[in-house]
Order: sequence, then C-alpha cells, then structure tokens
Amino acid sequence: MERSGMQPQVEEDITATMWGKFVLNCSINPLCAISDLRPGHIREVDAFDDELRALVADMLETMYYAEGIGLAAPQIGVSLRVCVLDLRDEDNPNGGRWVFVNPRIVESSDEEEKAPEGCLSIPEMEDVVTRSARVTVRGFDAEGEAIEVEADGLLARALQHEIDHLDGILFIDRLSAYKRRALLKKWKKSQKEGAKG
Ligand code: ZN
Repeated sequence: MERSGMQPQVEEDITATMWGKFVLNCSINPLCAISDLRPGHIREVDAFDDELRALVADMLETMYYAEGIGLAAPQIGVSLRVCVLDLRDEDNPNGGRWVFVNPRIVESSDEEEKAPEGCLSIPEMEDVVTRSARVTVRGFDAEGEAIEVEADGLLARALQHEIDHLDGILFIDRLSAYKRRALLKKWKKSQKEGAKG
C-alpha cells in the first residue's frame, strides 16, 4: 500500500539489527504491471525456509525503495500468500512492522471507515475506499511462529489492502465502476506522459 501524502519514512538500514536474521543480499524487485496482479491461484506457504526469508527480505527492500507502507508478494511476481507492512513514520515511530505469511482475516467489524488509499502498483493514484474499521488477522511470521493482530485505523486498512492482493483484488476493485474507470484513465494518461518525459 502506498504511503498517503508521501510522508517521510523512518531511515533505517533494514539489513541491520532487527532483521539481522534475514538474508543480507536482498534486492529490489521490479513491481508488476497491474494486468499481472490478478493471478488465478496464489499458494499458501508450506515451508518456512531460507527461500521464504530471502523473499521477505526482497519484499521489505522493495517496499522501502518504493516508499510504501505495505507490499504483497504477487506485486513482485511471486504467487505466494506473503505480505509485509511497516507503518512507522516520524509522527508514529512505534507504528510497527509486520511480516505476515498465510494471513487470513478471522474477524472484521461491521462498522466501516472511509479513507483515501493508494497502491504501489498504481503509483500516485488515490481514491477513497470503504473498509471494515477493525479486523483480526491470523498468520505466521517468517520463522513459522503463529501471530495474531487486532487492528484498527491505518493498520486495519493496510492489512485488508495487502490481504486483498493475495486474493487478486486491487483497491480499485472496491470503487464504483465509474470511479474505477476515471482513475484508470487518469493513471494511463500519467503513464503515457511519463513514457514521453
Ligand atoms: Zn497495493
């Protein structure tokens, strides 16, 4: 998920300290075109091995490079149910960071919230998306430890956004057909201008 309003990011060498266990030679992966983001089947992870840890390290590096707050594996062309999130910024240094393997929403509130949302796969395009105000998500970390998060606010939104990616759903799919068409038109136009410039 894209950082709304492009706030400054907490500066940190992700290969150091907290993520020291992860692979050091991680790389920034190109983000897929949105036409490639609706794969038929995104598999559950069944091995918590070095390959998974390398994927997670690459995903974190790619997310930080793109200045996002969340990234799902299908966005870099990997059909596995893995997502990473980092909500920390200058205003909220303890906002938290998560690696979720095989996450699923086990509870979501009937109460909904509307807020602007963007996606690293459709850069600089934002629109207001209605989502559950609170969710409970269960999954595993990269070591295979079970985790459960009860989230509200931005974390609840970001988790729903990333888990949608694992089901082949983009935030634009949650807009009205009219708004989706308008946003895609604007995005295509910006892509063309970008290609010319
Ligand atoms: Zn996204």
